[in-house]
Amino acid sequence: MLCLGIESSCDDTGAAVVDDGRTIVSNVVLSQNDLHERYGGVVPEIAARAHAERLDDAISRALQSAGVSLNEIDLIAATSGPGLIGGLLSGLLSAKAISLSRGIPFVGVNHLAGHALTPRLTDCIAFPYLMLLISGGHCQFLIVESASEFHRIGGTIDDAPGEAFDKTARLLGLGYPGGPQVERCAAEGDATRFLFPRPLLDSPGCDMSFSGLKTALRRATDEIANRKGGLSPQDRNDLAAGFQAAVRDVLIEKTRRAWAMFEDRHGPYARHLAVAGGVAANSAIRSGLQSFVDDAGALMISPPLSLCTDNAAMIAWAGIETYKASGASPLDLPARPRWPLDNLATALIGFGK
Ligand code: ATP
Ligand code: FE
Repeated sequence: MLCLGIESSCDDTGAAVVDDGRTIVSNVVLSQNDLHERYGGVVPEIAARAHAERLDDAISRALQSAGVSLNEIDLIAATSGPGLIGGLLSGLLSAKAISLSRGIPFVGVNHLAGHALTPRLTDCIAFPYLMLLISGGHCQFLIVESASEFHRIGGTIDDAPGEAFDKTARLLGLGYPGGPQVERCAAEGDATRFLFPRPLLDSPGCDMSFSGLKTALRRATDEIANRKGGLSPQDRNDLAAGFQAAVRDVLIEKTRRAWAMFEDRHGPYARHLAVAGGVAANSAIRSGLQSFVDDAGALMISPPLSLCTDNAAMIAWAGIETYKASGASPLDLPARPRWPLDNLATALIGFGK
């Protein structure tokens, strides 16, 4: 079965062709970084227009590079939420139009389910597994029970870590997207010079908070700027290192607790920790998580970066899994800017039903 997937929920326009034998036949991502860079974040109106302009091109390129025509596509999947409404509508309308004109079944995919099911595409792992999703817009622990059953056992109560990295980069005068820039500075910095708070470590459970960290960083930055008239490169590196160490410590301690909950629920079947989202690219965070997993006698799965960040191959794969588990979606399936993973199966049948 060949599935054409479409992703347009945020600032990447993606189209991909994936086979149900776990082969990514093509995967095209047209990034909009150049359009949003000067604003230091995604501007919804600009993103919506860019998706509408680029989707046809992304789909043609994905089909061309897969060497197939629409006649050979068996299923079409598009992200139907959560995300920015303008892009979601463009992707959904394209998918529904193709479905209707070609008689190909259509599936609306939850973007988070796309991230959460990617380890089954890349590493063929069995259910259940624990998923840590750390991206620009999301931060949560999910026990993935099946293609349609996800238990959220904790997550951020305010900012996502990627958002915190991006804001830190802006505060320090680095570029966008901020994560890689902050990581580069942190590698040259002294993480012990600034001791930033580790929010919610004293409270039970695996909820997290990153907005206080941003405030603490702003305070430290202002204090140095007032005293010295500006930040030196060393100040910048030390602030980046202190910030990154705080995020890493919180993520690792909360992963320890999430893992304990996962083990309580699934005993000997608790074997895999899957980590996805752009922040999973951070090598300090990655190596901290790897040490924890090694100590716990478990295995860490982290898809390659191109499949960790937003892409359409994960949507095509989640489309295949969803279709096999629950069948096609109706053509009047609406876009859902907010769509938590809980109750995914019922939500796929139609909004509010
Ligand atoms: P979502 O997928 O939740 O809608 P998104 O599309 O912004 O959000 P991703 O594409 O998964 O998220 O990841 C982008 C985020 O990852 C950005 O916030 C970026 O700063 C962060 N990021 C990328 N590389 C790194 C890194 N090396 N260290 C820390 N953060 C990183
Ligand atoms: Fe995403």
